[in-house]
Amino acid sequence: MPPKQLVVFDFDWSMADQDSDRWLFEVLAPDIRRKMRDRSREPGNAVQWTDLVAECLRELAHEGRGVTKNDIEGALRQMPFHPAMKRGIEMLKDTSTPIETTLFILSNANKFFIETILDHEGIRDCFDEIVTNPADFDDPIFPNLLVLHKRVGPDEQPHGCTVGCEPNMCKGKELVEYLDRQRQKGVQFDRVIYVGDGSNDFCAVLRMSSHDIVFCRRFRGLERKIADEVSKGDQESRLKCNVEYWVGAWEVEEKFRKYAKLESFVTHP
Ligand SMILES: [Mg+2]
Ligand SMILES: [Zn+2]
Repeated sequence: MPPKQLVVFDFDWSMADQDSDRWLFEVLAPDIRRKMRDRSREPGNAVQWTDLVAECLRELAHEGRGVTKNDIEGALRQMPFHPAMKRGIEMLKDTSTPIETTLFILSNANKFFIETILDHEGIRDCFDEIVTNPADFDDPIFPNLLVLHKRVGPDEQPHGCTVGCEPNMCKGKELVEYLDRQRQKGVQFDRVIYVGDGSNDFCAVLRMSSHDIVFCRRFRGLERKIADEVSKGDQESRLKCNVEYWVGAWEVEEKFRKYAKLESFVTHP
């Protein structure tokens, strides 16, 4: 039996080379983009991010603007997505590789943005599952309104995370639950790789074991969180997995090629 590994992707600034929530408004409505920034930086009780994006999407759909579903899809298809990332993903799913790799997306963006971009890149079938905020053009009155919901809504049981995740999604809990779902199907992974950049990826990274590796993008929130954790020293640090850093997607592709080889299970702790 070939070894099995799971590669978990954050989406914005990890798999994709942009932040989809911000990009959409930069392309279609810079005035809303400005409002988004101002609102998110308001001191005190700043609005929850997914609520803010949902509100901005409603504003975008206002009839006076004339922005259509088509325009939204067009803007998403233009979003930077590095060819090296696409190559790396396709290579991992190549059945001739000696390791069986499952790909999983864990993102605080939304289903419509992610699926539109994956369809455009022609790689949607590479992924086993996408866990993110639900979103669809399903408003009966406003056909051009993308209705965005939260993964964990206000009426649902709170996720109870103590690491600091946003109320709508705890990536640590989501990763553990995904691994449980796999285990119920009889799938156990020999290694987990996590590609991430943001501070909201940190909780998932803390759930990973000493066999696992996080590919952490430099100069963003996750790098700072990891540095703070490591600075607590070996006794106090909750971080158990290995850390490898990257800046450009071509380096992720390089790492994928390394970890698609059988030797990577022998040479890596
Ligand atoms: Mg991100
Ligand atoms: Zn959490």
